[in-house]
Amino acid sequence: MNKTSTYNKRTEEKIRCDACPVMCYIADGKSGACDRYANESGQLVRLDSLIIMRRMEHEGGAIVPFLGEGGDWDRELIASQDAFVSAIGAGTTYPDYKPAPFIVSSVVDGIDMITVVSEGIFSYCGAKVKIDTDRHIGPERALIRVDNEPVGHVTTAEYGSQMLSLGGVHHLTGGSKKEGRVTCATLLSLCNGAAVEMQVDDGSMLVLQAGKPPIINGVSEQRMRVGCGSATIGMFAAQWIDLVDEVVIVDDHITGVMSEHQAGKVIGWPASGIKIIGRRSTPGRYFNVAEPGTGWGGTSLTDPLTILGAFDIKIAKPGDTLLMVSTTGEQFSYYELDNNLVPIEQSMPDRLQTSIQRIEENCEPALTSISFIGGAGGSLRAGVTENPIKLTQSIKNTLTRVTCGGAPVYIWPGGGITLMVDVTRLPENSFGYVPTPALVAPIEFTMKQNDYEALGGHMEHVMSISDVLSGKVGQQNDHQLGGKRIVDQQLNNPWPIRS
Ligand code: SF4
Repeated sequence: MNKTSTYNKRTEEKIRCDACPVMCYIADGKSGACDRYANESGQLVRLDSLIIMRRMEHEGGAIVPFLGEGGDWDRELIASQDAFVSAIGAGTTYPDYKPAPFIVSSVVDGIDMITVVSEGIFSYCGAKVKIDTDRHIGPERALIRVDNEPVGHVTTAEYGSQMLSLGGVHHLTGGSKKEGRVTCATLLSLCNGAAVEMQVDDGSMLVLQAGKPPIINGVSEQRMRVGCGSATIGMFAAQWIDLVDEVVIVDDHITGVMSEHQAGKVIGWPASGIKIIGRRSTPGRYFNVAEPGTGWGGTSLTDPLTILGAFDIKIAKPGDTLLMVSTTGEQFSYYELDNNLVPIEQSMPDRLQTSIQRIEENCEPALTSISFIGGAGGSLRAGVTENPIKLTQSIKNTLTRVTCGGAPVYIWPGGGITLMVDVTRLPENSFGYVPTPALVAPIEFTMKQNDYEALGGHMEHVMSISDVLSGKVGQQNDHQLGGKRIVDQQLNNPWPIRS
């Protein structure tokens, strides 16, 4: 058998999926490399169900289906004015010249609207991770590894949170094959709500899961700090006056000292003669009191007294009292000066208990937030219009709304369509992958019909929402749907299709 006849035999028995550059040949009864498409009796089928969102509302404390102008609610059907065709399970726009799998018309408040629906293949994508903790997890720019492969790095910390930048095109495509595969698998798991274990170089072992407390070196974080040491002094100054002679809020970034701080001065707090070892920024605000770590207030401290020098003998006197507390209220100690002006730890007096509890109750639960970030590239934009720059301009001019699986997104300013979305606002398991490697994420573009025409939209491929609800697919598709599933709108998401 020559080479040509082998090829023909292969193509006769298998069908080719061209929904991504891998171009799998798929045998009957088998699925392609990404498990998203399969060959069912010679027909290419998108295996996951197409997700249709159902509009919901609050009513008398209960969450109920939205009843618009459509009259009685039929539980078996979903009224077209209360339905939104999400891109989850819709299929992919690939190769680029094809129109998106669904270009859906609907009428909202008497206005003709269009929603262009596609699962985007994001080669340029990653996750920004916010971890609510003061604990030092590793130096800025340290690599983060999963299965020993670098998948991202520690980036600039934010107020009360450590931040990671994971994924991106360099880890997905610029390193070894294994690095790309592990990076893709890490992003997919995190975006789909699964827990992932990762190690920071010269730092902590982390277990992270969207919407759950971070686990740092095996310990589940409980609370996010109330504020930096300086802010905590300001917030609670009035509650401590006359109860204690000095308060120190221990913090890795800004340690606060009541008697020197502006908040203390304003309410007439007297000097205590305390001496802090650290770099004084402004009165009552000290930097670098200790190394970062997992001890008091995100420092390495286990004994806070190590940041104190000798008390000023001209000001301090035996019996003076001192409260030292961390920014989460998790660590606290109370001291009285002895005859040599040395602080000696005593049990916490009842009069100060309430203030410690107040700090704790002002700390929000520590969570892990995962935001998917990706750039909508060639195929996505060409799937909407023959002139892709017009889509970018329409989004920048707020004529086109972008959603991911019905969830609102943040569009970065500047060129291109770089979007960011909180993964917990999408239905579970909304993300997929292809082995190029790249992540597959749902994306919808919604606009008025006349704006869609104006940007050169594929008007000949528009289909009505009732056709989609009845199970039809766009004429441009060479695949069938695996099914469709109705999912209730998350009430913290605005209804994605509005005039
Ligand atoms: S990896 Fe998936 S999307 Fe890509 S060609 Fe294969 S089956 Fe199709």
